[in-house]
Amino acid sequence: MTTHTTRMLIIGSGPAGYSAAIYGARAGMQPIVVQGIQPGGQLTITTDVENYPGFADVIQGPWLMEQMQKQAEHVGTRMMWDTIVEVDLANGSPFRAVGDSGDEYIGDVLVIATGAQAKWLGVPGEQELGGKGVSACATCDGFFYRGKKVAVIGGGNTAVEEALYLTNHSDDVTLIHRRDTLRSEKILQDRLFASEKITPLWNKTVSRFVKGENGKLHHLELRDTVTGELSTLEVDGAFVAIGHAPATELFKGKLPTDESGYLIVEPGTPKTNIPGVFACGDVMDHTYRQAVTAAGTGCMAALDAERFLATLEHARHEAVAAE
Ligand code: NDP
Repeated sequence: MTTHTTRMLIIGSGPAGYSAAIYGARAGMQPIVVQGIQPGGQLTITTDVENYPGFADVIQGPWLMEQMQKQAEHVGTRMMWDTIVEVDLANGSPFRAVGDSGDEYIGDVLVIATGAQAKWLGVPGEQELGGKGVSACATCDGFFYRGKKVAVIGGGNTAVEEALYLTNHSDDVTLIHRRDTLRSEKILQDRLFASEKITPLWNKTVSRFVKGENGKLHHLELRDTVTGELSTLEVDGAFVAIGHAPATELFKGKLPTDESGYLIVEPGTPKTNIPGVFACGDVMDHTYRQAVTAAGTGCMAALDAERFLATLEHARHEAVAAE
């Protein structure tokens, strides 16, 4: 077992974690990023990225994350290929974390950037057709279905927002929901029902995503949740919007979370209720969930971490001087 000590310990390696690392390293905090099971995060499982500012041409998600990692390393970040399995926040700074390698990490500040993952239906064809017609993010991929037939699966705020968003690109959007009433806020429902481009399909679940001869999604096999009857719906794109699961298992009982499991921060900041512990990116943001917003909150976490450390180090200095 090795102990790694740093002024800034970052858990998670998506745009939030890497941005925190870039800013933290440039501020002299010698960050350590513990990358987790999926280094690079959710963007490593997407293909084309067209909405990350700074790139006039389409770029690939895995490439973008590789660049962020290299940039963080160039300015002085240490990357650890390890997954944190335990954290100890009870005694304040410095914070201790343990990796599944058995290594121990000690950080004067802790930045949590563990992200979130889209929930999937877990039915045949879904995984295989990921990126070939099946997606979990209309804001990211909707553009690729301009003028095509699309469907959104789900009945919450995300599903309704995604269906509304897709009407910017498509005149034929079907919202498939397993019940006959939506869970989403009334204002969103009103907009949905007012749209001539969206057709709700009630009491249906997708039982299978079926590919066509071109290897891309061709149609959905649907099951009626009341009668059990099977039917099909031809679509070019299907967006699964049944919720996200933030990766907050590690912090259960240690940091407050909302009813969906997202870490709660002081509004407008990445500060948790423990001084020196910051949360950024999708783990604390169920609303925007974009790479660029995650990067933005990662930067905020580093700036606040720097201020926290300056105050902490000043207090330690004063305490030594007073002895
Ligand atoms: P929700 O949990 O609110 O909704 C998930 C939806 O997916 C529900 O309608 C649910 O059906 C359906 N669903 C779940 N599992 C399955 C399944 N296996 N098969 C078929 N359907 C399924 O998730 P959201 O992502 O919509 O929202 C998460 C949180 O984020 C909420 O608190 C929401 O209010 C918030 N949010 C806020 C926004 C805003 O304020 N602008 C935007 C987006 C999200 P059922 O209804 O039957 O349970």
